[in-house]
Amino acid sequence: MLLRPLFLALSSQSTVRDIAVRSSLGRLMASRFVAGESLEDAIAAIRGVNALGMLASLDYLGENVEDEAAARAVRDEYLRLLDGIAEHGVRSNVSVKVTALGLDLGVELCLDNLEELCARASAGGNFIRLDMEGSDYTDATLEIYERLRERGIENVGVVLQSYLHRTEADARRLMDRWDGLSVRLCKGAYQEPREIAWQGMPEIRKSFIKTGELLSGDEAKARGVRLGIATHDPRLIRWGRGRYAERSIAGNTIEFQMLFGIRRDIQDGLAKDGIPLRIYIPYGDAWYPYFMRRLAERNENVMFVLRSLVDELQGGSTRVGRRGGRSGRQGAVGR
Ligand SMILES: Cc1cc2nc3c(=O)[nH]c(=O)nc-3n(C[C@H](O)[C@H](O)[C@H](O)COP(=O)(O)OP(=O)(O)OC[C@H]3O[C@@H](n4cnc5c(N)ncnc54)[C@H](O)[C@@H]3O)c2cc1C
Repeated sequence: MLLRPLFLALSSQSTVRDIAVRSSLGRLMASRFVAGESLEDAIAAIRGVNALGMLASLDYLGENVEDEAAARAVRDEYLRLLDGIAEHGVRSNVSVKVTALGLDLGVELCLDNLEELCARASAGGNFIRLDMEGSDYTDATLEIYERLRERGIENVGVVLQSYLHRTEADARRLMDRWDGLSVRLCKGAYQEPREIAWQGMPEIRKSFIKTGELLSGDEAKARGVRLGIATHDPRLIRWGRGRYAERSIAGNTIEFQMLFGIRRDIQDGLAKDGIPLRIYIPYGDAWYPYFMRRLAERNENVMFVLRSLVDELQGGSTRVGRRGGRSGRQGAVGR
């Protein structure tokens, strides 16, 4: 796609970022994919998806932090977020990036932060998902998961990316070692070299299905594996629907997971059919790089944003997340 390199370059371009985050126009455009800047915006968005019969996973946007204080500030925001979810009685778990909790500064710091988050989540019957980042972090993220499990923590799960050659083996190893393994399976969002990752969609889909079948088969059922099928790809959704129909009767635990604001037609279809669906809802003031990555993914996303901009200008609203309206319903724009 022609615009992809442009948006990926813009995602790390600080001058453009400064202009975008200061302008109400930039924030308005981002509202297509980001719930808002504050925890209140995020809670409103969760309420909106819950009202549609969907669950949520809340992500406080941000990646690598520079110092310990910043990592602890991210942890504190997640603690507030877990309290907010419990207090408002909304149905959402949380997704965290290990680099935002200080992994680059030391595994122990990151582990301590996560242990505190898991304890708070556990008190409210909640769950922490470790997002998966670029391949430089795959080993460390899986190691952190296993070290948390070794400490007896069970309300934590991982993400595996089907574009990586290693993924099926990782799934097998984790399933063999840990009962109650919870995996979000996705294609993977980073630029990875061909030595370690499939580049073509047929291979990526094949790996997705193979790993997905492993994580929703008889053995997975016996080990209490929970699988999240995270994709908007109509072919994989078709496969997933079939797998869900067959294996949920057999006793496997499977849900679909999709991103806030993306393919709402498919989201509605799954919810209408009573298939469990969780919406990944990002929020926070670090929305700019996330927004640029979504624009880089597809030409259609640029069109959605431009169309919503026209709608919004006609309606006179300018706040990030505003289109969710009072109900916080994702989907007012571009349907
Ligand atoms: C809930 C969730 C959590 C994720 N967590 C992670 C993570 O932790 N780490 C990570 O690396 N990646 C993560 N991802 C991103 C993922 O790896 C992919 O980059 C992303 O989902 C795009 O792949 P896809 O299979 O959804 O669809 P694609 O391969 O992008 O597209 C396949 C088809 O889906 C449809 N489609 C997709 N997007 C759109 C759109 N915006 N508008 C219209 N049609 C569209 C089109 O028909 C397209 O042809 C996550 C994705 C989801 C859904």
